Amino acid sequence: MKIIVCIKQVPNTTEIKIDPVTNTLKRDGVPSIINPDDKAALEVALQLKENCGAHVDVVTMGPQQAEVALREALAMGADNAYLLTDRAFAGSDTLATSTIIASAIKKLGADVVLCGRQAIDGDTAQVGPQIAEHLDIPQVTYASQVDYVDGALVVKRQFEDRYQTLRVATPCLVTVLSSAYKPRYMNVADIVAQDQKQVEAITFNDVVVNPEDIGLKGSPTKVKSTATKQFDKQIATYELGAEEAAKLIVDTLKQKHLI
Ligand SMILES: Cc1cc2nc3c(=O)[nH]c(=O)nc-3n(C[C@H](O)[C@H](O)[C@H](O)COP(=O)(O)OP(=O)(O)OC[C@H]3O[C@@H](n4cnc5c(N)ncnc54)[C@H](O)[C@@H]3O)c2cc1C
Repeated sequence: MKIIVCIKQVPNTTEIKIDPVTNTLKRDGVPSIINPDDKAALEVALQLKENCGAHVDVVTMGPQQAEVALREALAMGADNAYLLTDRAFAGSDTLATSTIIASAIKKLGADVVLCGRQAIDGDTAQVGPQIAEHLDIPQVTYASQVDYVDGALVVKRQFEDRYQTLRVATPCLVTVLSSAYKPRYMNVADIVAQDQKQVEAITFNDVVVNPEDIGLKGSPTKVKSTATKQFDKQIATYELGAEEAAKLIVDTLKQKHLI
């Protein structure tokens, strides 16, 4: 079984700062990480590799610096890594991004494509399902458990109030929740070993995509504006006994419909 895991390098959002003048993300000096859902998807793939001998490739689309994320995935146990990078890809929205990634997956071939449910920066949760549509394969989203049983995947989906278990034939695409799988730590030997592995670049000339469907020009969605939400700090001070204080807190939370 060949598995391709789509990983995205994202800014560590707990440390993100917004430029108050331009209202854009200040990326300089902000550490990047593998998107948490994608790391969980990689853990799924690595467990399938251990349990049934799967071959695991990782793919990311991004600038050259995204190689760092791929190298981390190699150190965790992925077999091959591919960086989709080209000026022609720049400015792609989710549809154009998924067009490019799907085209690379077609070229590489996969029985199972694993994505994270959602990226913590773009936050659309569109890319995984769009890749499945481009590849014309079934998709299962919101996976909290993935097993390979008798030639098919058995996927447990997590909803707010219930679980659903599905059996899905391969080839298929699954999007994984970060809460479901704890990614393994890299060990020193694997960190050293990944240095011997190549990260292969995939450029515009390597994929079969219509130039009209990718990049800024091929993106049907355009960002009209971005603005930072302003929060008014309203501070009130009370001197109350414990019981009165508790009542005030409960009443205030009720008033604000928070409880
Ligand atoms: C008009 C427009 C222009 C844009 N221009 C740029 C730009 O110039 N540069 C830029 O960096 N972004 C740009 N973006 C953002 C870019 O489209 C998104 O970052 C990208 O499509 C992923 O969407 P998302 O973050 O919502 O991912 P989601 O759909 O939330 O991600 C779901 C899953 O898909 C997979 N995935 C998502 N993105 C990637 C990826 N790149 N590689 C591998 N797997 C992935 C991961 O498994 C992820 O967990 C632009 C967006 C718009 C709308």
